[in-house]
Amino acid sequence: MATNYSDITAGIATPPLWWHGDVPRYVPFHPRWVSIHATEVAYIKSRCQVCGQEYNSVVEGFTDIYERAESITGNASLPGWDPPLALSHCEYAFTSSVPIVVLEYWRRTRSDPQWVRLQEFEIALRDEYGQLRPSS
Ligand SMILES: [Zn+2]
Repeated sequence: MATNYSDITAGIATPPLWWHGDVPRYVPFHPRWVSIHATEVAYIKSRCQVCGQEYNSVVEGFTDIYERAESITGNASLPGWDPPLALSHCEYAFTSSVPIVVLEYWRRTRSDPQWVRLQEFEIALRDEYGQLRPSS
C-alpha cells in the first residue's frame, strides 16, 4: 500500500507538518483531517531507525474497542511502522521507524461524533526492553 507522494512535497516549499500514512499534510494536526470513519486517533512522533529523523504521523482506530489506548495504558508502547516514502530522510529505501511519544490522543463514539482529547494517554513510549525513547 506504500505510495510515494514526493511529487506533492517537491511542489511545496515548506515541509509537511505531519503525515497521514504516506500522504503529506500541511495543516496543523486535528482529528478532523483523518478518516471520517475513525473513532480513535493517536498523533505520534516517530523516529527513523536508520537515520534518526523524527516526524509526526497518526495511528487510527475504527472500533469502539480503543486498542491503541489499551496498548498505551498497558505497555506504554505502540508497534513501529514504515516511514512515509516521500519523507526524504535517508538513503535507504526500506527502513522502519519507532514511535517515541504520543503527542495527542483523541476518541469519539459512533453515537457522539464530537472528538474528545484525552491527555492521560499522551505519554512517552517505551521500546521492547522497557526503556523510554527520548525525543531529540
Ligand atoms: Zn531514515
